Amino acid sequence: MRIILLGPPGAGKGTQAKRIEERYEIPQLSTGDLLRDAAKRKTPLGTEAKAYMDEGRLVPDPLVVGLIVERMGLPDCASGFILDGFPRTVGQAESLEKELDRKKSPIGAVICLRVDREKLIERLVGRRICPKGHGEYHLRFRPPKIEGRCDVCQTELVQREDDQEDKIRTRMKAYETETAPLIEFYRDRGLLKPIEAGGTVDSTTQQIESALNAA
Ligand code: AMP
Repeated sequence: MRIILLGPPGAGKGTQAKRIEERYEIPQLSTGDLLRDAAKRKTPLGTEAKAYMDEGRLVPDPLVVGLIVERMGLPDCASGFILDGFPRTVGQAESLEKELDRKKSPIGAVICLRVDREKLIERLVGRRICPKGHGEYHLRFRPPKIEGRCDVCQTELVQREDDQEDKIRTRMKAYETETAPLIEFYRDRGLLKPIEAGGTVDSTTQQIESALNAA
């Protein structure tokens, strides 16, 4: 099954994508993770992308499309995948559609997570991550056992550069102007599955599973 997970920053795309990955045994393809990894390795693409990401702006389409098309070509994607954070513009969605038409392997469902704006900001401002990749915490909703330290490796938790309030505002704006038009794009194609994602992680997962089982 090929699935797109759509939604504003802080909607819980990453968390839900990981659950779908396990449940349906298809890989989660997160352009945010791929870009952060390229930036960490200081590849030319990663270095160029980092300047945009640190500001909370979208990375230009050609860079992101190239990266994701390459990733979708790997063998683990043969029986499907879940796209987390891609597409984010109509241009990206059109490129994706062309690529998947060429492979005769269309998208099966577009899960669209909806959360109130105040809740999104609260989730993002309190988010802390393990710099060694052991996952995400939240100051209020998912605090670590020892304050400020990762439960797995005890490394000091950090805040993502783009989770600072001014950057969050830029990201929200990018979502509203560039990404929200995709809701109509996929509704027109009969693929959209709107989900109320302001409740618990489990209740969102349940709704997603019902929507996918009916798809
Ligand atoms: P995320 O981890 O999905 O919140 O993405 C973090 C940042 O990576 C975004 O704010 C953008 O700067 C960049 N990014 C991730 N996915 C895309 C995309 N599909 N198009 C453009 N920029 C992206």
